[in-house]
Parts: sequence; C-alpha cells; structure tokens
Amino acid sequence: MAKLVIQQFICRTDNFGVLVHDPDTGATATIDAPDEAAVSTELARLGWRLTDILITHHHYDHVEGVPGLKAIYDARIVGPTSEADKIGPLDLAVAGGDIFSFAGRDIEVINVPGHTAGHIAFHMPSEQLAFVGDTLFALGCGRILEGTPRQMWASLEALAALPGDTVVYCGHEYTLSNGRFALSVDGDNQALVERMKTVEALRTEDRMTLPTTIAEEIATNPFLRASARTVKEKLGMAGAGDVDVFARLRQMKNDFKG
Ligand code: ZN
Ligand code: FE
Repeated sequence: MAKLVIQQFICRTDNFGVLVHDPDTGATATIDAPDEAAVSTELARLGWRLTDILITHHHYDHVEGVPGLKAIYDARIVGPTSEADKIGPLDLAVAGGDIFSFAGRDIEVINVPGHTAGHIAFHMPSEQLAFVGDTLFALGCGRILEGTPRQMWASLEALAALPGDTVVYCGHEYTLSNGRFALSVDGDNQALVERMKTVEALRTEDRMTLPTTIAEEIATNPFLRASARTVKEKLGMAGAGDVDVFARLRQMKNDFKG
C-alpha cells in the first residue's frame, strides 16, 4: 500500500483546505468543503478526482462547498448524524465509535462536542492521522458555541489520548494569535517559547504552521495544559479542578487582545 498523500492549502481567509489522496486507488477525500472553487481548482491542478467529502461540523465555512462538489464529482458525503439536518443529505451518517472505510483504511469517528453539539473528528490509526475540524487548533481550541466547558474539555482530552505521534490537521490557521495568548498564560513553558519562534518565522513568510502532532500540542497548547500545576498557579487557581481552569482559559482567550 502506498502512503496517502496530503495536500493542505489556505482558502476563504484562514480556513484550511485538506485533500487526502491514495495513489493506488485514486480515492481522494476533502476534509470539509470550505470553498467549492478553491477545492476543485486544487483537485484539477493535482489531477485528482474527488471521491469523498468528510464533514466535521455544520458551520458554513466548512460545508459551503458541499453541494457544488457533490454536483461535479458525485462524491460520497460523510458527516455527523446529529447535524445532518443542518448540513444537508449525507450518504453516510456517522457518530462516535463508528468505523468506516476510505481507500482500504479504517477511519474511526470520535465525538468531540463543544464547538458545535455534533462535531466529530476523523482518526486514521493506520496512517497516524487525525482531522479535528474546529475542536483542537495548533496552540488553541475552538470557541464553545453549542456546548459546555466540561464537554469541550472532555473532547480535547479524547483527542489528547490519541498516540503522541498522530499528525493533526485542523480547520483554521490561527496559530500566531493562539500562540500570543498561550504565552500570556504559560510563558515559562520553554517548549512553547521555542515553538512560537518557529510559528512567527513561518507566518512572516506567509507559510502554514500546520499540521501539528498530539505530542506537540500536549507540550505547548494551554488548552491541553489546564491540568498543569504551573498553568493553574499562573491563573491563581492552584486548587481548582481542570474543567474550571479550562473554562477560565477559554473565557480569557475570548477576551484576549493580543
Ligand atoms: Zn466552526
Ligand atoms: Fe471554522
């Protein structure tokens, strides 16, 4: 089996387009469908034919391209059962614990509610890949729009439990602003300080900062470090529970003026 080829590009303003291509079978998936024109242009440039559209959640900037891509390629649409009413007709409706096949590989569905109530992530254990939408970002996490901090924390913990070398693709290039906030609450973390130097250099050249890995996020992402003593102390919450610390971090990020 040849290794899958992944093509990541920026579309809309700060959404990632992600294409996953199997050279053996020609199967090609788009992770979400932020922009029909951008995705189909990239497919044409690479000579790939779209076979699958994998949707993480119902937000407009992740599904706007679905009808157009379906019309062009008649690709299989896979998405979360509980958001089907908002996304439109799914060819395969899935929920946490389900496993389906893409290019002869298993994809495991993980429920990650919080950003939206039905948000899912896609994990390919054989390729050590995870596609997490707007739940986990490099150095950040999604806003909690349809859930509770407790749900979002549990979702992030589920992703953090994946093998550390899992390569993670996310929905947006938000790393620089996330990192500025991260430094404000975890500035003594040398791994974070070093990573931000790399992020700043990449963004100066207008290059992408993703993908990331689970291990790198555990080491540097403050939203995965709400249980760390140093982070709790920095917030003056030394005796507080992890969920309360996470909720406080998320609120501080919402209010943060970097
Ligand atoms: Zn979203
Ligand atoms: Fe988004």
